[in-house]
Amino acid sequence: MAKTPCPYCGRLVDRLIEGMCEDCYVERHPLVALKERKVLRCKYCGAWFLRGKWMKSKNPAELLVKFLMEKGSVNGVIEKVELDEREEGAVAQVTVRGSPHQLIAPRSIAYEVAVEYIYDVCTSCRELLSRREVALVQIRSTPRALDDLTKKKILNIIEQEIFKLKDKKVGFISNVKQLKSGFDIYTTSANLARHLAYAVHSQLPSHIIETAKVAGIKDGRKIYHMTYSVRVITYKSGDLIKTKEGEMMVISINNKFINVQDINSKKYKQLTISELLNINPILIEE
Ligand SMILES: [Zn+2]
Ligand SMILES: [Zn+2]
Repeated sequence: MAKTPCPYCGRLVDRLIEGMCEDCYVERHPLVALKERKVLRCKYCGAWFLRGKWMKSKNPAELLVKFLMEKGSVNGVIEKVELDEREEGAVAQVTVRGSPHQLIAPRSIAYEVAVEYIYDVCTSCRELLSRREVALVQIRSTPRALDDLTKKKILNIIEQEIFKLKDKKVGFISNVKQLKSGFDIYTTSANLARHLAYAVHSQLPSHIIETAKVAGIKDGRKIYHMTYSVRVITYKSGDLIKTKEGEMMVISINNKFINVQDINSKKYKQLTISELLNINPILIEE
């Protein structure tokens, strides 16, 4: 029988499959394909987020196989998986037995599959950690309740800060409670709570009070529960307020200052937000 040269490798073969030799065909049609390389992994217990659920396994190779089935395709039977896990991801040697074409006899081929870990916290670890929340950001407003726009803005600020901090090990938010009066944001670290409180403070007219409460003693040292209370000022221009220093009309308000006019003297004054709170304002007319 006359032999034909393979146009890709030049080898003389009995027949070509779709214009190439068997070996070239096998090489160009891998039995394993993976479209997505990123996988969410719990930084505490190693669970992977697969098919909408957090899954744990003593053998992470099993998780890789599930990921391969979900985010890729396997044309054949997986015979062996060897996984090498590192901080940034995993590299697996996956041996598959199969054939890319009906004219080619099934064979075992090893492929290298790499996945990249994106770290997160699974629901069960989150629950465990939330029981040892150490710091609270309390957001309240005065004299009016927060409107929807301001609430959205606050959640946005928090989200953006978390995003900015995501690669730094500063703890995380364990719970956000939306209350009628504002927000309670529980975090696992006082630094994170302070950071979030000041982020909100810098973008809204507000005042911060820090309080530390001894929550227990560990290794001879006191453990504090920190609370960062952010009071957002919701006065508007046109509000009439009564203060220790007389009645005043609010002219304008921004993140740092409030401009008021004394009703009796007609004089204008600029006060910082904490100066305003120090003169005990009461809203008497809108
Ligand atoms: Zn060839
Ligand atoms: Zn976990």
